[in-house]
Amino acid sequence: MAARLVLDEARCVGCFACEVACGSENELGPAKSWIHVSTDGPQLVNGNLTLAWKLRLDAGCTLCAHLLARGEQPSCVHHCMAHCIHVEN
Ligand code: SF4
Ligand code: SF4
Repeated sequence: MAARLVLDEARCVGCFACEVACGSENELGPAKSWIHVSTDGPQLVNGNLTLAWKLRLDAGCTLCAHLLARGEQPSCVHHCMAHCIHVEN
């Protein structure tokens, strides 16, 4: 089975480091990336205001194959301090 990225949105804190890391590693230009973070909410749940985050991958994502080839993690995986993004083989 081909490797793929698994995204755990429940852990996401909306820091946008993955977007910055992707754009920088792949030289995509200002404010461009192949992973996207967006807000889900805010919404009222049982009287509490909640805000969650959605993660989406573009078809352009290469899994940072050049990094995987030398035994390193993709840039977004490496820079996500909340450990939301994993490579699954
Ligand atoms: S794996 Fe690499 S190319 Fe794909 S979203 Fe993450 S940083 Fe971008
Ligand atoms: S780096 Fe991790 S915590 Fe930050 S926005 Fe991306 S997925 Fe969420």
